[in-house]
Amino acid sequence: MKYQTVKGTHDILPDEVSRWRTVEEVVRRMMAAYHYGEIRTPVFEHTELFSRSIGQDTDIVGKEMYTFEDAGGRSLTLSPEGTAPVVRSYIEHGLGAKSPQVKLFYIAPMFRQENPQKGRFRQFHQFGMEALGPADAAQDVEIIALAMGIYRRLGLAGLSLRLNSVGCRVCRPGYRDVLRSFLEERGDRLCHDCRQRTQNNPLRVLDCKREECREQTRDAPLMSDHLCDECDRHFSRVRELLEQLELPYDLDGRLVRGLDYYTRTAFEVISGQLGAQDALGGGGRYDDLVEMLGGPSTPAVGFAAGMERLLLVLAQKDLVRPEPDTVDLFAVLLGARARDAGLKLLEQLRRRGIRAETDFLDRSMKAQMRAANRLAASYTVIIGEQELSKERLILKNMSEGQQEEMDLDEAVEKICRAMGSAAPKGEPSAGK
Ligand code: AMP
Repeated sequence: MKYQTVKGTHDILPDEVSRWRTVEEVVRRMMAAYHYGEIRTPVFEHTELFSRSIGQDTDIVGKEMYTFEDAGGRSLTLSPEGTAPVVRSYIEHGLGAKSPQVKLFYIAPMFRQENPQKGRFRQFHQFGMEALGPADAAQDVEIIALAMGIYRRLGLAGLSLRLNSVGCRVCRPGYRDVLRSFLEERGDRLCHDCRQRTQNNPLRVLDCKREECREQTRDAPLMSDHLCDECDRHFSRVRELLEQLELPYDLDGRLVRGLDYYTRTAFEVISGQLGAQDALGGGGRYDDLVEMLGGPSTPAVGFAAGMERLLLVLAQKDLVRPEPDTVDLFAVLLGARARDAGLKLLEQLRRRGIRAETDFLDRSMKAQMRAANRLAASYTVIIGEQELSKERLILKNMSEGQQEEMDLDEAVEKICRAMGSAAPKGEPSAGK
């Protein structure tokens, strides 16, 4: 059998990883600027956490979750999204009791059994943030500004921000009834899924991508015309504050998110670059979720964004390039004894933070020099039988071409000096 990645999953090879790291660094820097702390939750959770929070009648819970039973007979599910686990953790650790305002972010893999296509995978990655505590519209807008700021920092322009309000438990049930009656009148002209949604989750019909359903719902009543006074006020404030921050948005009365827990503000960030799967990310308020999962009533708002889609757009626009694969120094080792001496020397240099590579393949001098050039090494060290017999080595400055012979036991200090290594003694420098 030839082993391959499972359908809908993909490897991220070293070239590509450097792009991912660049994006992750921007995400982390921006999260720090807005004072969001990182949280890491397990990859799997009790199935019920997701079925209760995301909603039984959603695509995710209905058909996309990777659910399995472990040896103890527990039903477990690989996280299809990040909000429910964060809320579970917030409740479990009583984070709300420690601070009235808790702001968290994550970068993590997610799993959904969807039909793979461009920008849609079965294992994908999201970064996301959640702010628990504040009910104020300013918190919604802070999250939106942070999301848009990350994209801006990465050089993406021309994104559109779609905005809607999906109401709350006061006004949504009434609206749902109005919408259901409207849809029932058109029942036989809707697709099979939408006929079912009409009963279970009528708001999702507005989200159907099929042309026949879009046509039938063109004049459907919209939530934004049925908001209660408080939701209406909140929505106006969100819009005012977005305008104050000069963040343009498009109102989209049909925007309903695929997860049931949203209340009031719902938004999506769309890229024209992506084709059918055009949403880079989405979020909104979920004021009832903490309580629904057994915690104290706590308003909250969050956002989640797909990493693969973001990287697709960045690569298309050549905005984030892979970091070149380079080292500071390459050791050309000729013969078995030279390899032993080289290994020791390299270990000392690497402990001082110098990025060093060598060749344990016993290749020719020419092949090893080629490898040094490919890695753009600033210096090479050459150790051959002749040098070894004198307990010496040659250090070559690759850009200037000059070389110097030195004693093996002085080499570490001399090389570090020549390379101007600022690394503290005995410790590799962080990062590189
Ligand atoms: P959601 O959690 O469904 O609101 O999705 C938020 C974002 O995650 C989307 O806008 C996408 O960018 C990304 N996303 C969701 N599902 C997938 C998937 N199957 N493959 C790749 N990215 C996804």
